[in-house]
Amino acid sequence: FEKAAEAKSTLVDSSGIIEPKIAFDLADRVAKMHEIDISEHLRELLKINGKELSALILSKEIALGKYSLEEASLEEKLDLAVRVGLAIVTEGVTIAPLQGISEVKIKKNKDGSDYLSVSIAGPMRSAGGTESAVTMLIADHVRKAVGLSKYQADSFDDETGRFVEELRIYEREAGNFQFHILDEDIIHVISNLPVELDGVDTDPYEVVNHKGMTRIKTDRVRGGALRVLNDGLIGRAKKLLKRIQLYNLDGWEWLADLKGAVQTGDDQEDAATKRMREVITGRSVLSMPNKLGGFRLRYGRACNTGFAAVGIHPIIAEILDHTIAVGTQIKIDIPGKGATVAFVDSIEPPTVRLKNGSVIKIRDVKHGIEIKKEIEKILHLGDILISFGDFLENNAQLVPSGYVEEFWIEELREKLAKYEPNDQYLSQFLERIPSLDEALKISLDFQIPLHPSYLYFWDQITTSELSEILQPTKLNENSIEYPKNVKKILEKLGVPHLQNNSIILEENEAKIFFNLLFRNPPKIDDKSVPKIISESSGISVKNKSSTSIGVRIGRPEKAAARQMKPPTHVLFPISDKGGPTRDLLKASRHANFFTNIFNRQCQHCNEPSIGIKCSKCGEKTSIKYQCSNCREILESPFCEKCKRKASTHSYQPFPLKERLLNAQEKMGLRAQEPFKGVKELISQDRIPEPLEKGLVRQNFGLTTFKDGTVRFDATNSPITQFKPSWIGTPIEKLKELGYTHDIDGKPIVDENQIIEIRMQDV
Ligand SMILES: [Zn+2]
Ligand SMILES: [Zn+2]
Repeated sequence: FEKAAEAKSTLVDSSGIIEPKIAFDLADRVAKMHEIDISEHLRELLKINGKELSALILSKEIALGKYSLEEASLEEKLDLAVRVGLAIVTEGVTIAPLQGISEVKIKKNKDGSDYLSVSIAGPMRSAGGTESAVTMLIADHVRKAVGLSKYQADSFDDETGRFVEELRIYEREAGNFQFHILDEDIIHVISNLPVELDGVDTDPYEVVNHKGMTRIKTDRVRGGALRVLNDGLIGRAKKLLKRIQLYNLDGWEWLADLKGAVQTGDDQEDAATKRMREVITGRSVLSMPNKLGGFRLRYGRACNTGFAAVGIHPIIAEILDHTIAVGTQIKIDIPGKGATVAFVDSIEPPTVRLKNGSVIKIRDVKHGIEIKKEIEKILHLGDILISFGDFLENNAQLVPSGYVEEFWIEELREKLAKYEPNDQYLSQFLERIPSLDEALKISLDFQIPLHPSYLYFWDQITTSELSEILQPTKLNENSIEYPKNVKKILEKLGVPHLQNNSIILEENEAKIFFNLLFRNPPKIDDKSVPKIISESSGISVKNKSSTSIGVRIGRPEKAAARQMKPPTHVLFPISDKGGPTRDLLKASRHANFFTNIFNRQCQHCNEPSIGIKCSKCGEKTSIKYQCSNCREILESPFCEKCKRKASTHSYQPFPLKERLLNAQEKMGLRAQEPFKGVKELISQDRIPEPLEKGLVRQNFGLTTFKDGTVRFDATNSPITQFKPSWIGTPIEKLKELGYTHDIDGKPIVDENQIIEIRMQDV
């Protein structure tokens, strides 16, 4: 930042400061957002009153002209007052105060009285339902402060009817609201609002019956205003009533008479199914809610998952041909709506059926790639790791978990603490997965349930299915054979097996079956299958399944450099003189190069300049204004003669060739063909960039975005710990960066130690 500030202070560029501002707190943010000097005062107000009341107090002061210039009109003061008020309640972190309010105007009722009108634009959405409606409360408050009359609905045309028609058209054609509201509520609100709710059109859909109205200037739907009405004033009426009480506002009692809104998709089940129904072509559904074989809910978090970031096994990405990748946005049915995908390889991997009929559980990514071509069907997708915090944050109901490793370890720990605190043999299994023989022995000797690694979905089969698998055609501890008709049941259970002329279980699977089912044949009664098996075998068998989570792809991962189309090195306009590649070098060969840019001139050299200081003589340059009517060159941006604003840019000759040569010499960089500019500038003042910037960008293989920044849109995803081996950073380098100890407080010596990542490296 200091380097950039130093560079800017040389005045070679068109501005002397770094444009993005740094704000320290809410007060500072709001002050800088609106370029008004209120931060000190607001800070004091916030200390005593909290943000809600401070917003009201300050907006009233602004409306009464405390922070405006003498000549500011009442309309300008009110406009600023409403925006600043909204900025305070939204904590200055949304664009709503700047872009969500199109304009605030004083208009006349039919009886000639003045009233206040607030015009809402689409970006008001970023403020959220309640806050967008609070905008109207603030507007009403400042209206009273300056003594304007109330808005009188329907005094020219049927405005209430217009809102009803418009809202229904919007719902049908343009977009969804959070709530469904009644016509009578719309009429009730519009006819009682003390301030006019107006808006700019947002979508190309027109009303049919209420066109060409006196006060509503557009026949199209006004999405921003409708949203304030639907999701704000009516949808959040209850919350608003509390605010009104807090603000001590009168004249809003009618809000309590609303019939109220129905949240669309009110019951959980419906909302989930609906989400799954809103499938878009090309965005796959990976898993359906509550269906066996879908992603099994696994609670917890890994170092790369967390809030709205869930873990799935990396094998899934391989066998699904990278339909999903790290950073893919997915829609899930519980607990929240969306999440980002991260890979976690310590959770349950998928189980698949191969083309030859065999069923296998994939061990790891390498194994997955090897057998990928042979896969016929994925029987079980394995786990999806979701943190408890996500359930808490979304206020979602917790679903019982399947029996997972974490349970097993805790049960072992408990036994250890109780009976064998120093047992070396048992303690090792707190760290590593026991072999099958070890697991069976532990279960029998210590009455701990069977380890989850050797557990099948016993809770998903019926007792009659259990009796079918109790009848093998061949049986011993190392191999069990079945007729083909039990294959479906084994697939449900998730038991790996081979298929020839019959179904064969071998090794671990045979051993598990033998120990659970055949050593001591179960007595089938009306208990659940896991209970039946537990009783007969003496090995406690728990439920493996939890719920399955519905998952579909929301938006593919799209981290990439933010570029213009086509990519551009420098924001300098050359119209069509650079050919299809918009090459500045090509354009510079034109003898008479003209371009439409900002009127900055060096008086000394009598030449156009890009920077504040002339690149030739170093003198400060000045800006010329030209009246678009009388063509006169002026010193100020207003033509007194024609009473209109003068333009700051014009079509003018520019010594591009010379400037380009100078810039190359100055930077010691040579422009390569094509050195890409733009056709024309679209900013208000048409201020071009210094050519040097483009040279530096091209030299580093970078391009610019339309705001003159070199940007990369990254996926937002958490990480809390890492291993040096994952990131390929030598331990020595890490020590230089300040990493000295691992998560257990041991000095870093091995690249496989887990280290907590520091804030500045996230
Ligand atoms: Zn000069
Ligand atoms: Zn003029």
